[in-house]
Amino acid sequence: SGARAIKDIFIDELHEKEIENEVRVVETGCHGFCERGPIAIVYPEGVFYSELREADVAEIVEEHLLKGRIVDRLLYVDDDKEKVPGYSDIDFYKKQKRIALKNCGRIDPENIDEYIASGGYEAMGIAFTELEQDKVIDMVKDSGLRGRGGGGFPTGLKWSFAAKSPGDKKYVICNADEGDPGAFMDRSILEGDPHKIIEGMAIAGYAIGADEGYVYVRAEYPLAIKRLRKAIKDAEEYGLLGDDIFGSGFNFKLNIKEGAGAFVCGEETALMASIEGKRGMPTPRPPYPAVKGLWGKPTNINNVETFANIPFIIQEGPEAFASYGTEGSPGTKVFALTGKINNTGLVEVPMGTTLREVIFDIGGGLQENRKFKAVQTGGPSGGCIPEDYLDLPIDYDSLLEVGAMMGSGGMVVMDDNTCMVDVSRFFLNFTQSESCGKCTPCREGTKRMLEILNRITEGEGKSGDIKLLRELAEHIRDTSLCGLGQSAPNPVLSTLQYFENEYIAHIEDEK
Ligand code: SF4
Repeated sequence: SGARAIKDIFIDELHEKEIENEVRVVETGCHGFCERGPIAIVYPEGVFYSELREADVAEIVEEHLLKGRIVDRLLYVDDDKEKVPGYSDIDFYKKQKRIALKNCGRIDPENIDEYIASGGYEAMGIAFTELEQDKVIDMVKDSGLRGRGGGGFPTGLKWSFAAKSPGDKKYVICNADEGDPGAFMDRSILEGDPHKIIEGMAIAGYAIGADEGYVYVRAEYPLAIKRLRKAIKDAEEYGLLGDDIFGSGFNFKLNIKEGAGAFVCGEETALMASIEGKRGMPTPRPPYPAVKGLWGKPTNINNVETFANIPFIIQEGPEAFASYGTEGSPGTKVFALTGKINNTGLVEVPMGTTLREVIFDIGGGLQENRKFKAVQTGGPSGGCIPEDYLDLPIDYDSLLEVGAMMGSGGMVVMDDNTCMVDVSRFFLNFTQSESCGKCTPCREGTKRMLEILNRITEGEGKSGDIKLLRELAEHIRDTSLCGLGQSAPNPVLSTLQYFENEYIAHIEDEK
């Protein structure tokens, strides 16, 4: 959105006014408030300037930096039409609690010293020099952290499986193959705070006894890859990766594997096949990766956001982590807000925050004051939640109860102009084209479902189509080999559950 050009102009202006030694321009990762970008925050005051244009820079330098006067016209204006100068007083940020995103937008992600100065690598130091491996796993178990990639499996328990698996060689993998349409939290964490992922992975390696890790990151994220590459190199130079880290006798090295854009490679077994250089296709489980994973060795796989929570748990203690969120889903969750919402962007809130708070208080409600119709959570594997459930506290279990799921945290907001049959066709079209074709229910079934949805939306729907859709959806869900096929019918099932009348309205014979 032009932020880099603005940064360059800031540098030139500071030079021209001869204050480049007094004021530092720092390029950070994403602040999350995508709707208001480009953003510049002036510290130490924390004054938040948004929607900047190149022509605004000279005024900020002249007025704010030289004369100490805030540039009113560039301040954020809240719902009460008040100008809000302070970053932390802005509605969008006020209700957030940032653990995974703590450093995003605050430090220079390409500068390891800034990460260390913000407390980075302290958790790794504590773990490697003060804690037994079992103790690290117990802390993660006690925190109640559940996998943020979608399934919500308890992370500490997962680590304990890999730790108990016998093997001379073990691996840790970070799944950064974020493929859900509308989700960009993993990208933002890698771009904004790559060292945190390195630290989280190294702690996992120590806990399970793995000396090597892979970050599987999609090639469509070039900036994330560039920053991660630099972070790994810097960490190696500082002795934070490699042999005998902190004199603990523990070795850990990290590799990057670029994914080639297949959604199915987010599935653990397909991801490992892809790292091994094979075609990225799922295989039946068991054996589970914890027993027989990468190259047949015990392997632990977590996603980016899961690893981003680990340093906090070790540094602050599991109780501090569990003090946020709900009993069954402790901690926070990052959501990518998109669709017909005013404040599109990335937010992190305690689990148990309601949909209404996220969409209206933080997200600023719907564009053009239109009426809310539904929110799709969990991407193509998730479901559409109608207005009746706006006060639902968001956690893994409550979302499942209403036919949706957490997924990786995509939230697509829809207004009353949205056709829900079209929405389910959009998501099914996505999963259908991403189906790897290995098993029949997913390969053939999603194709037949898509044909039916196409004819319904084109006004060619037949009597019996809704029944057939349901039947197919249930079969595909119950008999597909991997999570992609098992969850592909979810958008259709959830829209049929809450918006069947819209399907009926499309089909002449059903009216
Ligand atoms: Fe491939 Fe779909 Fe079967 Fe998964 S469910 S193995 S994506 S065909």
